[in-house]
Amino acid sequence: MDGCLFCRIVAGEIPATRVHEDERTVAFLDLFPASRGHLLVVPRAHAADALEADPEDLAACARVAAELGTRARARLGADGITLQTNAGAAAGQTVFHLHVHVVPRYADGPRMLAWQPGAATPDELAAVAEALRAD
Ligand code: 5GP
Ligand code: ZN
Repeated sequence: MDGCLFCRIVAGEIPATRVHEDERTVAFLDLFPASRGHLLVVPRAHAADALEADPEDLAACARVAAELGTRARARLGADGITLQTNAGAAAGQTVFHLHVHVVPRYADGPRMLAWQPGAATPDELAAVAEALRAD
């Protein structure tokens, strides 16, 4: 898609440090890494986010993200891995081409913000579950 940063990286028009490529996906290092080894896995085909993407592309990104997470644990000594994808500005998305973050986590940091546990009554849980169930 014209003007899309990650489409331009996929096309090789903008440099990126690639670590994996296949028919559906490209994975490269995040230029502003949250931790050592922070990667982004993107589909070759443009889609704004995980909810808009071809499910096969989303599945391919998830598969590659898990493989690279496993590799980061083995080869970089990561103690844990966060796999994350943001859909929409309210979720923190800043580049509107689907990407799955692979963020190696280390026991000695860097620390990262997590959401704060909230509270819900049984009635609230029941109501929201009802809203989310298929018709
Ligand atoms: P989002 O906030 O949309 O979930 O994540 C976008 C990610 O893209 C951020 O982690 C940011 O550091 C990364 N990023 C932004 N511009 C570039 C770039 O030009 N090259 C690379 N490799 N990563 C980028
Ligand atoms: Zn794109």
